[in-house]
Amino acid sequence: MRLNKYIAASGTASRRKADELVFNGNVRVNGMVVKEPGYQVQPDDTVEVNGSRIIASDKKVYIAMNKPLGYVTTMKDQFGRPAVADLVTDIEERVFPVGRLDYNTTGLLLLTNDGDLAYKLTHPKHEVPKTYRVRVAGWLSDTKLAKLRRGVDIGGYVTARAQVKVVKQMERSTVVEITIHEGKNRQVRKMFRAVGCPVQELERISIGDIRLGRLSPGHYRKLTKQEIDYLK
Ligand code: URA
Repeated sequence: MRLNKYIAASGTASRRKADELVFNGNVRVNGMVVKEPGYQVQPDDTVEVNGSRIIASDKKVYIAMNKPLGYVTTMKDQFGRPAVADLVTDIEERVFPVGRLDYNTTGLLLLTNDGDLAYKLTHPKHEVPKTYRVRVAGWLSDTKLAKLRRGVDIGGYVTARAQVKVVKQMERSTVVEITIHEGKNRQVRKMFRAVGCPVQELERISIGDIRLGRLSPGHYRKLTKQEIDYLK
């Protein structure tokens, strides 16, 4: 198995992150730094990432979590903040998050040790639609809604078409559901800021056909076979 795939299959990091670890010299095979992600790991090789031995698992695990507020979407945070991986306690295989939700975003996050699937889902060409429930400051006029749907400039990039539906209009804020097909950094926050209505709360409620449902914050469940087949 290729070294980058081996690292992903151990649940240490996504394939892309695994490449970075390899290029940066964080990976040793039998005690020697290997900087070639395509290195073929042999059955009796000892692979270490940052000094800790890792072992690839054959068993693929797929989890849907409701990410709580105040957690970083990584395995471990350099500033010691809580990380989503800390919440996964009763699963033997190590899993890593697929994509990212901001520290202050809640909702549906997938975790897996399946590097192929994670790679596919985070690749721009696959464009899996993601839906967010958002509370924004102020009133979203028809003009602003039309702009959000058509595409807005979020700083050197104009967003693709999006579906936006007003769920509730309150005196000082509006709740909307927005579905986007891309995943630029902090995209939803930037889109609403671009029309003058900053985000107050942001929750991801679905990734394609996978729904957050009634999963409470900090809890997770395994994906069903049907959900896994859908993602693949
Ligand atoms: N868009 C954002 O701005 N933040 C997220 O966490 C997800 C999508």
